[in-house]
Amino acid sequence: MNPFIRSNQYNFIKKQTQVLVNGHATVNDQEVLNALRALSLEKVLWLFEEASEDQKNLLNPMVDIKEKLEAEDFLEILKPYVIPFKEISEAAIKKIFPKAKKLKIPSLENIDFKEISYLGWLDKGSNKKFLIIEYKNKLVGISGGYKDSNKKGICALCNRIEEIGMFTSSVKGLTQDAFITRGNYICRDSQKCNENIVSLDKLNNFVELIENK
Ligand SMILES: [Zn+2]
Repeated sequence: MNPFIRSNQYNFIKKQTQVLVNGHATVNDQEVLNALRALSLEKVLWLFEEASEDQKNLLNPMVDIKEKLEAEDFLEILKPYVIPFKEISEAAIKKIFPKAKKLKIPSLENIDFKEISYLGWLDKGSNKKFLIIEYKNKLVGISGGYKDSNKKGICALCNRIEEIGMFTSSVKGLTQDAFITRGNYICRDSQKCNENIVSLDKLNNFVELIENK
């Protein structure tokens, strides 16, 4: 069976396993638990509309999870079926950001590409954030200034409350010399952000907003 689970879907499944573990720890009513189990699995299967029998057989045992260790084992079994983020080299990254001189790229071998929905890093020297997002099967690079807001708020990429900062990017306007500056609050810590992403909707909206102006 080929990998078929995206990183954000894996995070979603992880969240559902936590719901089950919490449910078993706090609920005694068997009927309520059964409903919870059925609902969790239904939500997960919803992500995979065209799931094959093999894929369903892999996901179905989720309903038996009661404890944290069982959840971890289940997630471990799923991990080989997670699709990694598109392979990318340092040279390719430099090509994506041709205007960034002395671009500092994080060491790619330290990144688990199965755990990211986008590649993002902060260049502390220049206070710039670099994002590489897969959009419509292509890698899109978006860079911009980053300023910590020193407070928590909703991130435009993961939609969760985290330490955020203002990300400002200039994009080409309708006429050649016109630039539009857009600001969005996004997570300071891109790794944390990626762990939070359970849906790609916000990420796609973000690219659309910036790219299509
Ligand atoms: Zn975030």
